[in-house]
Amino acid sequence: MEENNWKNGTKCVQSGYRPKAGEARILPLYQSTTFFYDDANHVAELFDLKAAGHFYSRLSNPTCEGLEQKIAALEGGVGALAVSSGQSACMYSILNICRSGQHIVAASTLYGGTYTLLAGTLKQMGIEVSFVDPEAGDDEILAAFRPETRALYGETIGNPGLNVLDFDKFSRIARQADVPLIIDNTFGTPYLCRPLELGADIVLHSSTKYLDGHATSLGGIIVDGGKYNWDNGKYPELSQPDASYHGMCYTEAFGPAAYITKARVHLLRDMGNCMSPFNAFLTNLGAETLHLRMRRHCDNALALAEWLERQEAVAWVNYPGLPGHPSYERAQRYLPQGASGVITFGLKRGAEAGKRFINRVKLAALVVHVGDARSCVLHPASTTHRQLSEEEQIASGVRPEMVRVSVGIEDVEDIIADFAQALGEANSTGKKPLFRPLTL
Ligand SMILES: *Cc1c(COP(=O)(O)O)cnc(C)c1O
Repeated sequence: MEENNWKNGTKCVQSGYRPKAGEARILPLYQSTTFFYDDANHVAELFDLKAAGHFYSRLSNPTCEGLEQKIAALEGGVGALAVSSGQSACMYSILNICRSGQHIVAASTLYGGTYTLLAGTLKQMGIEVSFVDPEAGDDEILAAFRPETRALYGETIGNPGLNVLDFDKFSRIARQADVPLIIDNTFGTPYLCRPLELGADIVLHSSTKYLDGHATSLGGIIVDGGKYNWDNGKYPELSQPDASYHGMCYTEAFGPAAYITKARVHLLRDMGNCMSPFNAFLTNLGAETLHLRMRRHCDNALALAEWLERQEAVAWVNYPGLPGHPSYERAQRYLPQGASGVITFGLKRGAEAGKRFINRVKLAALVVHVGDARSCVLHPASTTHRQLSEEEQIASGVRPEMVRVSVGIEDVEDIIADFAQALGEANSTGKKPLFRPLTL
């Protein structure tokens, strides 16, 4: 099909919703809980999954479907499911194939909310998680696997450690252990990185971040690569009859889309963390310019990182697009168009100076968010990661003095000028002028 050959920018704009003659040109907002049918048998068939169609927006909605199909096309998957948040996407991606008494292995460098979900809430539900250092060797990571392990989990770019995942190693280990590799590609975005082409089996996003891109809508998306063989004895919930659908078997009935269909008709049916149609509408609109925004986010982040490196007050800068960064080669390989828009750095004068810096920025706002058009800053140790112990913080890549910057798509000269005035105090020894004039 012509559409499969489109480049990613074209897919951002065009994939997903395809109108028929006389229908709305852009993806319409179906702000409706229910859908009309005139034949009871037809509705019965929908309930039995024997016919495809929307009947209740907890399970599916045409606006959500338009977004799902766009992201599935961008990631190169067989299907996608929009849910209410990135946290829901993460939880569903695991609960879909893992139950009490089972186990997953995860990279330790994870988003704070994912860490607490995996280390705390899933544990309370009987699902054990072993965290591994993503830089450890194959043998050490493989040693964390158990007979009841059901998935390997990691992030394309760890938030906020900003380590780029070694996809070759993680996909090799997942294949060896015969479990799916689940990747949170929130920071990668399907424009910069396509984990399914790098050996992942399931990809998920907090669409709240770059996919929306304007900080309007919470949301999450799970994409099914459609290649994992669920019929290997470990996943009876997919390969054996489901009594709640009269003995239907997902792998038989839905083939490569078994996983994503089950996530919808089982987890969404019973737990209901669906994306609202309005959020899907806005997120789809955002995703139409993902390719343009990501280029600018990457260019601005690199320019700001290079500038920060030259500042006297700055102790260290962490951006995988900077030569010399431990993940630089991997970033070049897996994210050749840019290392996304998030930077972290530390000030020589430590955590208090970091907080002062955050209080002084004017253009960049202090918000608990990343990935929108506006530049923003945050002190992870006292906010997003404050529920973690200091050891857990260090293991997830958070140092006490770390400032996290989500670099927006403004003119970079203005972002740098703002940082220069905010660093002023920290940059000076008390007598020096506040900042040096800069040239880009
Ligand atoms: C924000 C984020 C999440 C959680 O997403 P929400 O939409 O806030 O629930 C998960 N993973 C990563 C990498 C994130 O940045």
